[in-house]
Amino acid sequence: MNPKPTKRPKTKSDKAFERLLMIIGIALLIAFLLGALAGAGINNAIRNKDTAEAHEPGVLTVAAAQEPTKEPELWIDLGPFTCVAYDACTDCCGKTDGITKTGTKATAGRTVAVDPEVIPLGSTLLIDGQEYIAEDIGGAIKGNKIDIFHNSHAEALEYGKQTHTVQIKAE
Ligand SMILES: [Zn+2]
Repeated sequence: MNPKPTKRPKTKSDKAFERLLMIIGIALLIAFLLGALAGAGINNAIRNKDTAEAHEPGVLTVAAAQEPTKEPELWIDLGPFTCVAYDACTDCCGKTDGITKTGTKATAGRTVAVDPEVIPLGSTLLIDGQEYIAEDIGGAIKGNKIDIFHNSHAEALEYGKQTHTVQIKAE
């Protein structure tokens, strides 16, 4: 019959050793936590730096949540314009090739004709919530007037004449 194993009573030095182990353990835990915190701080700093570099310096951007006035810092208000419509027919253009003043193919939803004295050709415009490119001119398009390209003469007639506040994208 095996004798029941008896626990050796803890000596004073055993207790001191246990206390030392506990202190080392706590110290390691604190060091680990501090390291993790420092790491998170560095990661945040890197992330913030990346975000800052993603934007052009000095340009403040905001979430484009407001329609049709979006990113007010990047869009300059030009005030109200009389908006009319045209298409690539002889009545509207005197030709039917649909080639704009800037050499592009006139496209509904993108092409508008402007007075280049008022709006430089190539400008991006925001009209009634839709972005257009000023890529054409027209004999009757002078001053605060914009001609919006449509796919057919019927659609252009349907558009008629409207007044909209026009914004130009800051370059
Ligand atoms: Zn027409």
